[in-house]
Amino acid sequence: MLSGNVSKIDVLIIGAGPSGLMLATWMARMGVKTRIVDKRFDRINSGQADGLQSRTFEIFDSLGFGQDIWREANHMLEIRFWNPDRSNKLYRSDAIVDTVPGLSRFQQATLHQARVEDHLLNYIRKHSEIEVEYGCMPESLSINMDMVEGDDEYPVAMTLRHLVKPVAKTETSNDPRKPVIPNGLYRSNIAADTTDALLQNAQSTEGTRTEKILAKYVVGCDGAHSWTRRQIGSVMEGEHTDYIWGVLDIIPITDFPDIRYRCAIHSSSGSMMVIPREDRYVRLYIQVTDTDESGKVIDRFKINPENLVQAANNILAPYKISYKHCHWWTAYRIGQRVGSKFSAYERVFLAGDAVHTHSPKAGQGMNISMHDTYNLGWKLASVVKGQAKRSLLETYSTERRQIAKELIEFDQRFSRLFSGRPAKDIMDKEGIDLTTFKEVFEKGNLFASGCAVDYGSSPIVAKMSYPGNARSDCLVGKQDLAPNVPIGMRIPSHRILNQSDARPWHLQELLPSDGAWRVLVFAGDILEPAQFSRYSAFGKALSSPDSFVNQHKPKGAEGGLGSLFEILTIHSSPRAKVELLSLPEVFHPYSPEYGWDYNKIYVDDRSHHEGHGQAYANYGIDPRRGCVVVMRPDQYVSWIGELEDIDEMNRFFGRILTA
Ligand code: FAD
Repeated sequence: MLSGNVSKIDVLIIGAGPSGLMLATWMARMGVKTRIVDKRFDRINSGQADGLQSRTFEIFDSLGFGQDIWREANHMLEIRFWNPDRSNKLYRSDAIVDTVPGLSRFQQATLHQARVEDHLLNYIRKHSEIEVEYGCMPESLSINMDMVEGDDEYPVAMTLRHLVKPVAKTETSNDPRKPVIPNGLYRSNIAADTTDALLQNAQSTEGTRTEKILAKYVVGCDGAHSWTRRQIGSVMEGEHTDYIWGVLDIIPITDFPDIRYRCAIHSSSGSMMVIPREDRYVRLYIQVTDTDESGKVIDRFKINPENLVQAANNILAPYKISYKHCHWWTAYRIGQRVGSKFSAYERVFLAGDAVHTHSPKAGQGMNISMHDTYNLGWKLASVVKGQAKRSLLETYSTERRQIAKELIEFDQRFSRLFSGRPAKDIMDKEGIDLTTFKEVFEKGNLFASGCAVDYGSSPIVAKMSYPGNARSDCLVGKQDLAPNVPIGMRIPSHRILNQSDARPWHLQELLPSDGAWRVLVFAGDILEPAQFSRYSAFGKALSSPDSFVNQHKPKGAEGGLGSLFEILTIHSSPRAKVELLSLPEVFHPYSPEYGWDYNKIYVDDRSHHEGHGQAYANYGIDPRRGCVVVMRPDQYVSWIGELEDIDEMNRFFGRILTA
């Protein structure tokens, strides 16, 4: 155990890349005492990830800056396929829509990682005093097993080392060629892990200092070479392939006609992917031959922008490509691996590249890494704040490890098809069938959007248990009441109107990421007396002292429903025939300071300017019956039931939340 001066912290985040920063946004928003450290001295300002998926935009939107990134990003709407014809001449063989239409309000877009990190950092600063502590890395970690189950304990003891700037800079100088153009080789999986060398160097350097801390929770968001992963004995399982790919971020000068489309190009000289970016830039993913003419494996460190652009010209011939501006470049070897465990005792967690690595071409890494900590953040904050039981944290590993495994399977298929050479004819069994490639690509788009994530049955996903996952403590929601609101998935969004002012809203816009659980009361046609009395009875049950809203109030919340829950009504009667103030008060609460709350009652009706959202029809909800949908703070559907099922709801929340 540590002795001497020791400070205490609720959550320590190691690594300020996309996953670490996303976690910090939750901590900032939910007011959790948090520190975030990074061994780097500077933020990245070029390169790495650039693909942003639909679900990521939905998450950003729930944080309040989705529209800003959406405006700034380059939107990708169509994918074009280029293949060799019988005489090996490259031709445009097909075009398909990029994001599945109707799936989300947002489509796939590109913006480089540094700008995404900027938005996350601004949000963290706006909501808290959390600042990234650059030039700081962990040196030791131990978990006191006697304390792991104690709610108020600080079982994780750590030593942090604060570096002095020149020491941290050695990381970049490991590249012997010192190129002028910023390159990502030192951060790609071609480069060796520099963490231990950096630490040893720091330990023998004058001016560095150590600090001892005790943490309730530690989260390793420290990338593919994760130090935290090693400390908790999680092992990366999977394979590396010999496929080497280069990446060039350039402003292209070219006669290739589809340079502003996302293109998948297979030619007899290799494969290439074109990703149009913001500010005239285009990213090229270029397959590099992994052996030379004599069959010897090539020295990957001989890869540079010049030979990458040469390879691009070979693939694109007879078209030509060159550049005057190159923003960044790198090379990497494809490998698909998943961490053997995502947490130790639900006290130390791993997220992002620390537990899954794969090829970057499908634009998943930054997205899935942020989705990991978006999943973990609200759970961790609820537990730290004493609102939820520690058992909630177990769902992080079960939910996210499954997604990581699906990601790796998807990427294995996708990469193999992308890296293989096109089949010459149907007898060419080793070549890639380009029709299959296109089909995998199309299906992959749904997975890649992030909107197809379907969490399994658990205490927070009340869906039918399936073999091998039968849990006696699971409640089962009534999926048939809303067949198109799948329990375990994020809720699809349709337009509804505010009853008080007729303004149209997308349902998802009403679900901000602030830590609240949301109860969506699809009250149905409340002009029908029988349905109105069911709705009123549900309101009465909610107001009872035994109801979950009154049983689980945040510390210090007096009266009202507190901030742990928000109850939103969506009815299906004609808007003009319903009077807001004739509805039960519990659904649009009154406060002496602010009067009635006008932002709680919505209607599925035609808007003056944006048509009819047909929410009931789209969700498959019968307006004569309605239903209640419980939403997690991360917009995933937890439970569905009748307006009479308040006891089920009380039991549901009783298992997760503290009294
Ligand atoms: P990282 O971004 O790696 O961040 C980890 C952070 O932890 C770093 O800041 C690091 O300095 C810090 N750190 C590491 N060790 C320590 C330590 N011991 N102590 C303190 N701090 C530490 N993803 C996409 O979604 N779309 C793409 O198009 C895409 N393209 C890519 C292209 C390339 C060439 C590469 C290399 C990656 C690409 N990715 C892409 C992947 C994406 O960049 C990563 O998946 C994403 O950055 C992972 O986020 P992370 O926060 O988990 O890890």
